[in-house]
Amino acid sequence: MKKIIVLSIIIIFILIISIFSLSEKENINYNIDNDKPIINLIGDKTIKLKLGQNFIEPGYRAYDKNGIDITKNVSVVNNLNINKSGNYKLTYKVSDKDGNTTITSRYIDILSEVDMNKKTIYLTFDDGPSNVTNDILNILKEENVKATFFVINHDSKYDYLIKREFEDGHTVGLHSYTHKYNTIYKSIDSYIYDLNKIKNKVENIIHTDVNIIRFPGGSSNTISNINMRKLIKEITNDGYYYYDWNISSFDTSHISSKRIYNKIVSQLNRFNYTTNIILMHDFQNNKKTVKALRNIIKYGKENNYNFSNITKYTPFVRHIN
Ligand SMILES: [Zn+2]
Repeated sequence: MKKIIVLSIIIIFILIISIFSLSEKENINYNIDNDKPIINLIGDKTIKLKLGQNFIEPGYRAYDKNGIDITKNVSVVNNLNINKSGNYKLTYKVSDKDGNTTITSRYIDILSEVDMNKKTIYLTFDDGPSNVTNDILNILKEENVKATFFVINHDSKYDYLIKREFEDGHTVGLHSYTHKYNTIYKSIDSYIYDLNKIKNKVENIIHTDVNIIRFPGGSSNTISNINMRKLIKEITNDGYYYYDWNISSFDTSHISSKRIYNKIVSQLNRFNYTTNIILMHDFQNNKKTVKALRNIIKYGKENNYNFSNITKYTPFVRHIN
């Protein structure tokens, strides 16, 4: 009997020791995980295809932590059926020689003829990420709706949300690094300097080219000291696509979520556009927009709208050209 007790104690002791050493190992692994390989998807994160249209892989590149090209190790898994309309997900997976694995996804929407001809709502959120962005992303995920985020350098602690926006299949667009009108609109150079800063930041987080932008205040802003047409020419030559909006939520004012909803719905009805780009904001503490969001999506779905994120193929909505 004594022997059994002693033996049990020894076994328990060994178990405890091994659990501790396992968790130690986990920690070490976790550190190596910071050097996970990078998969850089070429082309759009979300692709729309007509029913029956072939999917052509736009390409990808993978690198290990030393920058060595490991693209040939990438495996792609998909359950795509181009003859059945719906939302599909392609998974790209790569491991480096230390066994660190990175997985990323691309979203393919197969649209029927009816879907293609529907009016479309493009939800756009400016001035984030912030403490409300995660809630917005959760609602979008639950509703299976893709949107567009025009980001600024609000607070580095929310950088992971830029990654989530991208991973969830939304478009990450550039808005501004500082969002300070008096400095960015001082000259063309100061605008480009600010734009490059946010571009570098975002591209370091999501490892893909970002060239969809929204001017702070829109292209028709009256704050700029620069001739906006000159600036537009400059940035268009640099390969950027800028998007304004044609539906306003007025969520920068102190209004209720109910009023935001009503403003949007009444404009959708009044204008009856095919392309509806809605201006909203995910700046710090903007809970009223979060609160209005689900009902706006519900209204769109019930009234036969598609929802989409902005890509360079989206019809332009611009205040000035
Ligand atoms: Zn803004």
